[in-house]
Amino acid sequence: MTLVVVTGMPGAGSSTVVKEGLKRCGERCGEGERERAGGFTPLNYGDVMFEAAKEEGLVESRDEMRRLPGEKQREIQLLACHKIAELERGGKRKGGEKSKNLIIDTHCTVKTRFGYLPGLPERVLRVLKPDLFVLVEAEPAEISRRRQTDKTRQRDVEAEKSIEEHQFMNRAVSMAYACLTSASVKIIENHQGELERAAEEFSALLKALSES
Ligand code: AMP
Ligand code: MG
Repeated sequence: MTLVVVTGMPGAGSSTVVKEGLKRCGERCGEGERERAGGFTPLNYGDVMFEAAKEEGLVESRDEMRRLPGEKQREIQLLACHKIAELERGGKRKGGEKSKNLIIDTHCTVKTRFGYLPGLPERVLRVLKPDLFVLVEAEPAEISRRRQTDKTRQRDVEAEKSIEEHQFMNRAVSMAYACLTSASVKIIENHQGELERAAEEFSALLKALSES
């Protein structure tokens, strides 16, 4: 089982790069050959957290989660990581075979009103044991523009300076995560109009990983 953690601050386009990258893997390998190409399954950490937070009647939209009290966010974060680990174990039990490789789409840090909340604190890393961290990045001006045009989400309006700080914190903490797990960190740039190039880079990375 290989576990790739893909992160990117809101508006960097990490979910889009994962989706497009996997599409390319599928196209390149053809249906029957997916397993050989790594058979990566994507999973959104925010989805698992949102499910748990909704069940507890805490939020109605996913963008309300980062506004919850810090302790509540940490509690749901840990709950979600155990749910993901359970999914992995379940996969193994069901077929009796090696479980599928996983891509977890999440955040290095979540910007809350109490400051930067680590998305993958030690207790989460210990459970998930990632093999690789991928950081999807863009220029602060690009991120700001994307957030303004995304009508599907309640994205925060942030000054470019503050987006730059957030991205810096994500880089710094990703190396700390790497030190704790021995995994490496790969940065993929996702600039405006260059999604294809970013998706290609991501899909080539998955291919190389599955062949290593
Ligand atoms: P997303 O759709 O990826 O922007 O995630 C939605 C929300 O899920 C985020 O705004 C956070 O509140 C929460 N979330 C996702 N991943 C994590 C994580 N690793 N730790 C804490 N909160 C997270
Ligand atoms: Mg996303």
